[in-house]
Amino acid sequence: MGARTELLRALRKGVAGQGWDVAIVGGGATGLGCAVDAASRGYSTILLEAHDFAKGTSSRATKLVHGGVRYLAQGNLSLVREALSERAVLLANAPHQVRPLRFVVPTYRWHQMPVLGAGLGFYDLLAGRDSLGRSRVLGRDATCEALPGVRRDGLHGGIAYWDAQFDDAGLAIALARTSEDLGALPLNYMAVEGLAKDSGRICGVDARDAETGEHFRLPARCVINATGVWADGLRQMDRPGKRGLIRPSQGVHLVVDADFLPGSDALLVPDTEDGRVLFVIPWFDKLVIGTTDTPRDELPLEPRALEAEIDFILATAARYLGRAPGREDVRSVFAGLRPLVGGDGGGSTAGLSREHLVEVSDSGLVTITGGKWTTYRRMAIDAVDVAARTGNLPNRASATLHQRLHGAGLADARRRLATAHALPDEAGIRLAVESEYARTVEDVLARRYRTLFLDAAQACAEAPAVARTMAGLLGQDSAWVAAQVARFEALAAGYRVLGDASAGARLQPADQ
Ligand SMILES: Cc1cc2nc3c(=O)[nH]c(=O)nc-3n(C[C@H](O)[C@H](O)[C@H](O)COP(=O)(O)OP(=O)(O)OC[C@H]3O[C@@H](n4cnc5c(N)ncnc54)[C@H](O)[C@@H]3O)c2cc1C
Repeated sequence: MGARTELLRALRKGVAGQGWDVAIVGGGATGLGCAVDAASRGYSTILLEAHDFAKGTSSRATKLVHGGVRYLAQGNLSLVREALSERAVLLANAPHQVRPLRFVVPTYRWHQMPVLGAGLGFYDLLAGRDSLGRSRVLGRDATCEALPGVRRDGLHGGIAYWDAQFDDAGLAIALARTSEDLGALPLNYMAVEGLAKDSGRICGVDARDAETGEHFRLPARCVINATGVWADGLRQMDRPGKRGLIRPSQGVHLVVDADFLPGSDALLVPDTEDGRVLFVIPWFDKLVIGTTDTPRDELPLEPRALEAEIDFILATAARYLGRAPGREDVRSVFAGLRPLVGGDGGGSTAGLSREHLVEVSDSGLVTITGGKWTTYRRMAIDAVDVAARTGNLPNRASATLHQRLHGAGLADARRRLATAHALPDEAGIRLAVESEYARTVEDVLARRYRTLFLDAAQACAEAPAVARTMAGLLGQDSAWVAAQVARFEALAAGYRVLGDASAGARLQPADQ
C-alpha cells in the first residue's frame, strides 16, 4: 500500500469494526519499531505520526549502528553488548540500509596508543561472534593511507576498528513498510490530540488528519507513547501537570565535500575539548562531521544549530584534518534533539536498561523513551511486552529477530551509502509518493532522498521539479506547487551556513 487513500480507507474500517489491539503514537525509530514488533506478534496495530515518519530526531542522527565507544569508556558494558548484538541483527535484516564501516582513531600522543588499543580490543571481545573485524594498531604510514586527509604534523599512528553505518530516514521508511507488510496501519500527518478514557482507563486516541482537519476517535486496547523528546506532551494529556521525564540535548552535524577526507574510512576523535566524541564520516558522497551535546529547554520540530556549535565542530575538525573546512564549505547543517531521560515523572516504571525507560501511567498509557536508533528493536520488545500486559492482550512473543525489513532483497541505488547520492527522478518520486508515504516536497528531498541533509542549495534547486512531478501524482494544482516550493526554500534556509558568522549569523527560516 503506502498510498494515503487506501490507508485512510483501512482506518475507517478499523473504526467501524473492533478498533485496534495496539495504537502507537509517534513515527520515529521507537514508534515504528513498536509497530513492527506488535504486528509481528499478530496484534492489530495502528501507528499515528503527526508529521512525516522520522521528521523528528530519527532523521538527524550521526547514522551509526554502533555499540558506542563512548559507553565503553563510561563502563556501560551491558548497553554496549546489547547494541553490538543489535548491530548484527540489523546487518542481517536490513543489508540494504546498513553497512559495515571502518573507523580510524589518529593518535598524536604516544600514551594514547596502549589505552585506545586496549579499549578497542575489549570492544572486539564484547562483540564476540558479532565482531565485524578485529581492531588493529596502524603505523603512521598506514594511518595516512587510511585517512588521506588527516593532519600529518605530529601524527604517531592510529587504531582501526569496525562498526556500522546506515541511512536513518531510509531505515524508518523500511520499518513503516515492514509494519504494513505485517498488517499494521502506519499513518503520517495524523496528530494525536487527546486520549480517550473509559472509567479512568485509556481506551483509544483522538487524532486529526493534518491534511483535511478530519477528526477520528480510534479505539485501542493499549496505547504506546513513542513521541521521543515530545513524550511529556502526551503524558500531560493523560495527566495534566505531570512532572516531565525528558531532558533534551541538542546535537549538530555539518556536511562537507568528501575531498576533506577522501577514502572509505571514518575518523574518530575520542576525546574532544568538551569531553565528547567527534566523528568525520563518509556518508553517500559527502562527509558528516559531528556532534555536539547542548542542553535545550525548547522542543522545536526544526531545531537550529547554534553558531557556537558550528564553530566548535569546525575548530575541532581543523585540529585533525590537513585541510580544514571553513563555514563556506558547509553544504548543510542539521540539528537533532536527543530524548534523554532525566527527570522522575512518578508512576510505576519498568526501567529495562540505563538507556531507555518504559513507564506505565495509572490510566494505562505506556511511554517508551530514551535509548538510541541502534537498539530500537530491543526497545520495541520491552514496550510491547508491557503494553500487551496493560491491555490484557493474549501473551505472544515478538518475532522480529529474523524479520527481514522491507526491500532487503532489492538493490536500491538510492540507498547505496558508499556511492553518489542519486537525485530524485520521476520514477523515484513516483515510488516515494505511491509506496513510501511522501506527501510534500520536503518528504521527498529531506527523507526519501537525503538531498536537504547533504546539500541544502542543491535541494532548493531540485524543489520546483519535484513539486511539479508530485502535483501530477497527487492531483494538485500550480498554487500547491508554488506553496510547496516556497515552504521548502524557507525550511532549507535553516540548513545553510553563511560564510561570515559575525555578519548576522545564518539565514533564519520561517517557523515550521
Ligand atoms: C545528534 C544525534 C545523533 C544521534 N546519533 C545516533 C547514532 O549515530 N546512532 C544511534 O543509534 N542513535 C543515535 N541517536 C539517537 C537516536 O537518533 C534517537 O534515540 C532516536 O532517533 C529517537 O527516536 P524516537 O522515535 O524516540 O523519537 P523521534 O524520532 O523524535 O520520533 C518521535 C515522533 O513523535 C511524533 N509526535 C510527537 N507528538 C505527536 C503526537 N501528538 N501525535 C503524533 N505524533 C507525534 C514526532 O513528530 C516524531 O516524529 C542520535 C541522536 C541525536 C540527537
